Amino acid sequence: MTINIKEISDKDRNSVLHPFTQLKAFASGELGDPTIVETGKGIRIQDAHGNHLIDGFAGLYCVNVGYGRAEVAEAISRQAFRLAYYHSYAAHTTDELAILSDRLVKMAPGKMSKVFYGMSGSDANETQAKLVWYYNNLRGKPSKKKIISRERGYHGCSVVSGSMTGMSFYHDHMDLPLPQIVHTGVPHHYWGRNPGESEREFSTRRGEELDQLIERLGPENVGGFIGEPVLGTGGITPPPEGYWQAIQAVLKKHDVLLIADEVITGFGRTGSMFGSQHYGIEPDLVTIAKGLTSAYFPLSAAIVGEKVYKVLEDGADKVGAFSHGYTYSGHPIGAAAANAVLDIVEKEDLPGNARDVGAFFQAQLQEKFAQLPIVGEVRGVGLMGAIEFVADRKNRERFDPSLKVGARVSKAARDRGLIARAMPHGDILGFAPPLVTTKGEAEEIVALA
Ligand code: PLP
Repeated sequence: MTINIKEISDKDRNSVLHPFTQLKAFASGELGDPTIVETGKGIRIQDAHGNHLIDGFAGLYCVNVGYGRAEVAEAISRQAFRLAYYHSYAAHTTDELAILSDRLVKMAPGKMSKVFYGMSGSDANETQAKLVWYYNNLRGKPSKKKIISRERGYHGCSVVSGSMTGMSFYHDHMDLPLPQIVHTGVPHHYWGRNPGESEREFSTRRGEELDQLIERLGPENVGGFIGEPVLGTGGITPPPEGYWQAIQAVLKKHDVLLIADEVITGFGRTGSMFGSQHYGIEPDLVTIAKGLTSAYFPLSAAIVGEKVYKVLEDGADKVGAFSHGYTYSGHPIGAAAANAVLDIVEKEDLPGNARDVGAFFQAQLQEKFAQLPIVGEVRGVGLMGAIEFVADRKNRERFDPSLKVGARVSKAARDRGLIARAMPHGDILGFAPPLVTTKGEAEEIVALA
């Protein structure tokens, strides 16, 4: 298909409200024309001008099996011809949905029981909040409603999930966060450590701070804690040593549910199937999206642990039906896409590839960037990594934000043919290439970075 670039650009500028875009600069043309992305294959995409770009960010950390996978496209097409849609209310199902749910319950971290489906990470986290509240109402603890998340956490941008997100620019002018959501300190040793403090000591301190916060709020008022096993959008930051152990001990002590937001870390990105398995996390609830279908179809899920589900089922005599659900909960095409993607993840051992190629990639990033005078930290795990730029390496001083260093390095990489994301918080260049990336491709990414 030949695209009329001018016509598409004009239609777009006149009619699309683009997320996370400076609206005036786009409307006036200051940002240039929209990039019309036309095709994708493997780890590369091509725009309408015929430019090839290596996608070092897998879209938005989601196209894990790579672009152009015929197996997934065919599974979607087969299901669309056979049965494009039926709902899953009132115990209706499809074969693809039942098979997918059985797989997810068996493979998920912790002791899981049931899967509730949505369309995005945001709505799945919205569901998690409602589950925390519902669970505590049903077990006679109606005041246990506050949910704690971390500064620099990212959990989406709907009303509850946007409140969970711990960066103020996602709240400003949008009347967020909601009062039920409270934030605690970010687990980033590089910026947060006291002089001479080891990672383990820093993690212990973060645990103590959480304990004090819960005591201050009253344990009878705190129902849940949500965290990404590895902080993603807040800066691609693996947890310091001992962090999750310190946090989980406090949550257990105060009878607070742990929601693991595995939207990025699920399905192999850290080198383990789930980030929770990588870091010894035993969640009560697990959020998945992105890698579940590798973004071939919008599908997410809140996976519900045995402990929570039992209370829901036992409470049914009292409250009647579980009154929560979306038209597209358990969409059969999404389920077919997910089953095809999980077949690839398992057959091609993508967690194993993320571990092996990831170790090589991390070493290459370290070698090329760690000692540069404007680099404060190079960090990562599996196939997710970041370079953090600083004005003064010795004194850990940030660049003046108006210099937009992160955005400028990202733009320079793009001009060389690589998409690496300027993370929204700080001067950070982020990488999260598809999990099918080979060693040779990882070398290409580092060479272009
Ligand atoms: N949770 C995490 C950890 C994410 O990274 C994201 C998106 O980047 C979300 C939730 C929200 O997902 P969505 O954009 O599909 O609503």
